Amino acid sequence: MSEFPHLAEEHPRTLIPALCKQFYHQGWFTGTGGGISICQRDRVYLAPTGVQKERIRSEDLFVLDRARNVVEAPIDEHLRLTACLPLFYNAYDTRGAGAVLHSHSRHAVMATLLSDEPVFRVTHLEMIKGLRGKGYHDVVEIPIIENTAHECDLTASMADAMARHPDVDAVLVRRHGVYVWGRDWREAKAQAECLDYLFAAAIDMRRLGLDAGATPTAGGR
Ligand SMILES: [Zn+2]
Repeated sequence: MSEFPHLAEEHPRTLIPALCKQFYHQGWFTGTGGGISICQRDRVYLAPTGVQKERIRSEDLFVLDRARNVVEAPIDEHLRLTACLPLFYNAYDTRGAGAVLHSHSRHAVMATLLSDEPVFRVTHLEMIKGLRGKGYHDVVEIPIIENTAHECDLTASMADAMARHPDVDAVLVRRHGVYVWGRDWREAKAQAECLDYLFAAAIDMRRLGLDAGATPTAGGR
């Protein structure tokens, strides 16, 4: 029985466990990896780290204020705050995000290996239209930062990549995964799904000898 039996469907304490379960089954939160956070009315809700993401309950969440102070801790004192915390706050503090998602999707990981450039590039695919402000003909560039041994050490390079690419709401981490955000949880989720599709499509196109970042030829390929 939940500690919070009367929560509305749209409350972060309801949404985060449900989304964790969904994203686990998509392969984004395998082996306790990845994470999700929602900011609502100056309160930041976070799933704990190092736990089976598909089994998280409403009462397992941390709640922080915008100054990063814990205002509500889980009842289970063994649960720990995620090392992703400063990376989530990058999106809250500099982009006014309402939700941030961190996925260890294999599509995201493989997309960072398509070239050694600091960007993933894609154009002329219908799902680009699911990204904020983007159209079919646009060349979308998602920044790629290099991975570090500890997740918190990505904070500065992520902030730097965000400043260089203000037109997109995601940062890839080479051989690691992706951070995606949106004005609210719906936009974060939709953009994460579109990007994952585009990462997978680009990987498949490479197998066919095609470049997802190149404008198609007259023949359409
Ligand atoms: Zn990670």
